[in-house]
Amino acid sequence: MTSTIPARSEAGSPLAHNYHPLPVTLTSGEGAWVRDVDGNTYLDLLAGYSALNFGHRHPALTAAAHAQLDRLTLSSRAFDHDLLHPFATALSDLVRPVVAGAEAGTAPMVLPMNTGAEAVETAIKTARKWGYDVRGVAPEHATIVVAANNFHGRTTTIVSFSTDPDARDGFAPHTPGFRIVPFGDADALRAAIDDTTVAVLLEPIQGEQGVVVPPETYWPAVRDICTAADVLLIADEIQSGLGRTGTTFALELWGVRADLVTLGKALGGGVLPVSAVVGRPDVLEVLTPGTHGSTFGGNPLACAVGLAVVDELRPGTHQERARTLGAHLHQRLDTLVDTGLLERTRGVGLWAGLDVDPARMTGRELCERLLRLGVLAKDTHGSTIRLAPPLVIDADDLDLAVDRLTQALR
Ligand code: PLP
Repeated sequence: MTSTIPARSEAGSPLAHNYHPLPVTLTSGEGAWVRDVDGNTYLDLLAGYSALNFGHRHPALTAAAHAQLDRLTLSSRAFDHDLLHPFATALSDLVRPVVAGAEAGTAPMVLPMNTGAEAVETAIKTARKWGYDVRGVAPEHATIVVAANNFHGRTTTIVSFSTDPDARDGFAPHTPGFRIVPFGDADALRAAIDDTTVAVLLEPIQGEQGVVVPPETYWPAVRDICTAADVLLIADEIQSGLGRTGTTFALELWGVRADLVTLGKALGGGVLPVSAVVGRPDVLEVLTPGTHGSTFGGNPLACAVGLAVVDELRPGTHQERARTLGAHLHQRLDTLVDTGLLERTRGVGLWAGLDVDPARMTGRELCERLLRLGVLAKDTHGSTIRLAPPLVIDADDLDLAVDRLTQALR
């Protein structure tokens, strides 16, 4: 009996249907380019939802992974390994500019996990425990203020405070203890905080929502509100962090420090899932042995790649590229708005949300047209698509991508 293995997501495949991918099947990638099963090449403007900030198979990152594969891949946290503390130290140093208290010399603490959602869950657990142990919030009453249109992952607790019906509906009973306020509205945030509030959890820029940048005064105001109310400020930098915005962390755009920062995606260099919560030691210290953990969090392979990622970011060259190429990208996108091909664009660094007139085409249709022109992008909602090319993209390739976008919009 012969069996045919479907080459892509289609009827007959045993693959679950929780995604609606574009009709392309990739086999290899290098830098900003990928190749499909038929030998066609594409410019990747999604970059694994920013997990591939350093491009496909960045040589330093794959070399670190290869070398570690020949040494030790897993120890579990039952035993330390020789890269665990070096990774924590390097990451603590990298995140120092955006952690509260670090300006006075306190080194941020690092709690390694695997996926972004796990890092967010870890931050939520930490904030609740801090609220009970340190702030004296009445047992089981802790609340966390979050923003409408957030995206923090897919666990049952995280989708409990999603405002996206697709993400949330059908997964009840939902985890209580979250208050939702409009993103970018500091007064609404202040009004939502009371004696039960232990934390405010926000994305610096809402990536999944279509790269929504809040008003200039928002983040400094949020910091002041949290300090005045003695609640933790948790910044989810999983998509915005690690070079994407032209700064190492988006929070640096406003000179703001958070109490806890969640990281993921590009921390694994596009090689494997690596995430972490980095923040004030007096806060993370509420977690003691047995209260939280992960079999794979901080594994040797993850630490080897994570260390190489920190090395990549230390000199600031990726951030500089994101700034200069990003300025060029936004200038070109503005022209598309001026000529009526796009309704609106937003963003900072090498990160842009584009709104197409829904009467012209949906975001999905635009992405299908781009695919036919050799460019990979993904719609987020309705007629909005997000561009997040690898930070290693060439200036010429970026121009080529915008030329093809222009063609697709026509
Ligand atoms: N937080 C933010 C801001 C994200 O953009 C994402 C993923 O898109 C997550 C958390 C969840 O990360 P993961 O898919 O690795 O669980």
